[in-house]
Amino acid sequence: MNAAAHGVWFTERAGVAGTVYHMALGIWFDGHLNVPAVEQACAAVLARHPALSRAVGEDAHGLRFVDAAEKVPLTHGEHSDERVRQEIERPYRLERGPLARFTLLRERPDRHLLLFTAHHLVFDGMSKDLLVRDLAAAYSGHELAPLPDVVPGPAAAPERIGPLPQPVLPDLRSVPEAALPGTTVDFTTAGVDVGGLTRFEVLLAAIHVLLARYGNAGLSVSLGMSTRTAQTKDAIGLFVNEAPLTVAPATGGFRGYALELRRRLRALDRHRPVSGPRPAPALTPVSVGYRRRAPEPAFAGVATSVQWSLFSGSARNALHFQIVDGPDAMAVSLQHSPAAVPTEAVARIGAHLRAILDAVAADADADIAALALEAEPARHGTPREHDPHTTVPHLFAEQVRRRPHDVAVVDAGRKLTYAELDAASAELAERLPTGALVAIRLGRGRHALTAMLAVMRAGSAYLPVDPAYPPARQQLILDDARPSAVISDDGLELPATGEGVADAAYVMYTSGSTGTPKGVVVPPAALANLLLAMADVVGSTPADRWLALTSLSFDISGLELLLPLVTGGRVVIASETGAADGRAVADLIRAEAVTHVQATPSGWRALLEADLPPGLTALCGGEALPLDLARQLRPRVARLVNVYGPTETTIWSTTDEVPDEPQQITIGRPIANTQVYLVDDQRQPVPAGVWGELWLGGRGVAQGYLRRPELTAQRFLPNPFGPGTVYRTGDVCRWTPDGRLEFRGRTDSQIKIRGHRVEPEEIETRLREHPAVEQAAVALQGDQLAAHIVARGPAPEPAELRRHLAEILPPALVPGLWSVLAALPLTANGKLDRAALPAVTPPRAPSVDEGDQLTAALRQIWQEVLSIDDIGLHEDLFDLGGHSLTITRITARIMQRLGVDVPLDVFFDTPTIAEIAAYIRESA
Ligand code: AMP
Ligand code: MG
Repeated sequence: MNAAAHGVWFTERAGVAGTVYHMALGIWFDGHLNVPAVEQACAAVLARHPALSRAVGEDAHGLRFVDAAEKVPLTHGEHSDERVRQEIERPYRLERGPLARFTLLRERPDRHLLLFTAHHLVFDGMSKDLLVRDLAAAYSGHELAPLPDVVPGPAAAPERIGPLPQPVLPDLRSVPEAALPGTTVDFTTAGVDVGGLTRFEVLLAAIHVLLARYGNAGLSVSLGMSTRTAQTKDAIGLFVNEAPLTVAPATGGFRGYALELRRRLRALDRHRPVSGPRPAPALTPVSVGYRRRAPEPAFAGVATSVQWSLFSGSARNALHFQIVDGPDAMAVSLQHSPAAVPTEAVARIGAHLRAILDAVAADADADIAALALEAEPARHGTPREHDPHTTVPHLFAEQVRRRPHDVAVVDAGRKLTYAELDAASAELAERLPTGALVAIRLGRGRHALTAMLAVMRAGSAYLPVDPAYPPARQQLILDDARPSAVISDDGLELPATGEGVADAAYVMYTSGSTGTPKGVVVPPAALANLLLAMADVVGSTPADRWLALTSLSFDISGLELLLPLVTGGRVVIASETGAADGRAVADLIRAEAVTHVQATPSGWRALLEADLPPGLTALCGGEALPLDLARQLRPRVARLVNVYGPTETTIWSTTDEVPDEPQQITIGRPIANTQVYLVDDQRQPVPAGVWGELWLGGRGVAQGYLRRPELTAQRFLPNPFGPGTVYRTGDVCRWTPDGRLEFRGRTDSQIKIRGHRVEPEEIETRLREHPAVEQAAVALQGDQLAAHIVARGPAPEPAELRRHLAEILPPALVPGLWSVLAALPLTANGKLDRAALPAVTPPRAPSVDEGDQLTAALRQIWQEVLSIDDIGLHEDLFDLGGHSLTITRITARIMQRLGVDVPLDVFFDTPTIAEIAAYIRESA
């Protein structure tokens, strides 16, 4: 039995094949059908092709083809679509057979369908041509010459490929691990003529271009190829092999790309068996099947039409392109499971493929990175009619006029009315410079709030400096920003070194990848737009009370403090309560009848531990909202809004109302006067449903980074799609079918730790400043930062490095996990390979007793099958050269000697002797 048949059998045994291996074709006869001649023709074909009469035998040596226990039947019946479907889906018993069936179905006395169904173990695409050809010849009265019976040689051990990159396809929900109920999207194409290439090569190149344009580079796409030789060219049977071809990045002209693909195609070893990382009905999540079909043969005296491809009903993977190259056109069938990719998205994939073929037909040298698949227009936030020049001081003054005696702020039991807050801020504003940067070095509280209002009122920009940060950190920010005034508990200082800043409401420092933080300059109009837009989203009124929970050094504090004041509500400052103390915060919420609370996901987890009063409007943002948290939080609050936005586009840019029973988390749609674009790495808009980098435009976009023109130019670009400036967020998103943004992650290494935005390079730079550290790499591990260092001499103590970092970094940026490595992992081009950093965990003690009988028996079997002496109990079967064939032999021997049936997939999850022993013990 050859490797392909072994692979098919193995996948069936692993229980993941569904009906994908059920092959079928139909021959429609119109006119008078000679039924006895059909019966004779079927018998003649069975005589000529012994493969169809076989089944699979299994013993300790492996698998063999044996004679089926029953003859291949020819049944008669009435035609219906349901009957055809039943015949195709009817299960096969691989070890008994028969693995093929003929069914003659009558639709009318002069119209019949001869349906042939077979298991892939004994049949393949090419076999369809042979079957129909031989049936036609025999029906037409020709003698079928016997064929040499080819005894398939023993299966060569397949080469196992490692874990595969996940594909990117429009609206892909998940990559199926087993066959799922499926369907197809079909079209035909005459093919495109590009000199030097076959029309199949052109189509295959177009498929690769399409996949590359979706953002797949390095994706393996398997191609089913015939392994027939001169000896087997006429034999029905399974003679195919899947070979993986890698998708190259989309660059250059189409012709060059296609010629290169053709070169790689020709270099593929079509006979080399390959197996995937797990048993699966396809080698790769996206695959291509191709065969050239012979012209339809004639059946004497009756008109026919052949249905060459009857779909099995199961999809083998995320997407399979089945191409049948007929005498006049190519039939393309996109097989998929709607559970993995919606059929509507697959129809778009088909349309994109045709758009590429059309473009290539017009110009074979078209630049593939620029081919228009479908122009995805930006989704605009609702434009909001309000004075674009309004500012927070204007909006606040309006509320002071309307409700001077209403309480504006509550802080540690102290209450200030609108009039009192206004007077206090007016008094301070008098003493402040205009058009300047004013540092506020105060803890959360009414004084800090008064100072913020005063600075803006003076026409200056505030710069929050958290007094809880290490003094060196505070100094670093002050040295970089050079404010003209500093408000602290010691009063007002006016340093002589101050430098001005024009048209800014505030400057917010955020982690910088070069090692020093950078100041984001936010214009007054951006802040006012954010507040008015958010008032629409959450519906803030004078009756509402907002909790102010966040440190001033996060931009989101601006929303909590200022939105209530510009909408006539009340701000309740939790100045003496740490946000992490859920119980105390919940008490304050209840005591002050708070209605609106904004927190990060970790902040909400802490609040959930406490007894929250009902009826809150909850805003959650700053990092991805996990679905499990949304599900826990949603029933405990009146409204839950997921809010998304970088500091560079002013606090929040998109929002989503989380429904009662959330199924999927999205970051929703842009807020007012905000534009969203998703672009690929060529800066082209991506098609709907495909991942792209999120660019934000509109009124929220900041001026840039304070006195960093180069850095600003890298991230803030003239909007190529409309007026103004766009900010490149570095966030990867796609549109869901209902027009919401789904967030996937970052294009860079930026991470979030409990709401803090961290460029790991900032921490690494600080670590390298320590004399004992040669190199350093920092990564997120679970919800902790892990530092990996290469020491310069004897390894320093983590406590020493922690102390070193704590002098300059906020506490959240000091890693909790530490490891010393001999060298940092590098990528092929010599850069730090963050993904390859090892997990920092204490070594696990072996748990299995080395000496027991079960492990000894298993070790014996392992050693026999792998022909290796002395296998360790914890050695990975695959590292030892194991593969699907080996597993079959091991399970057969375990069954024989120990009487236990170990399912094949157990070997993929736990591929060591110790783990298999543990499995056997547990299942006993
Ligand atoms: P910051 O400048 O601190 O507001 O950080 C902005 C970054 O935090 C964004 O670019 C995202 O990577 C991440 N982020 C903020 N809010 C969300 C959210 N609701 N869902 C997912 N990521 C978010
Ligand atoms: Mg933000």
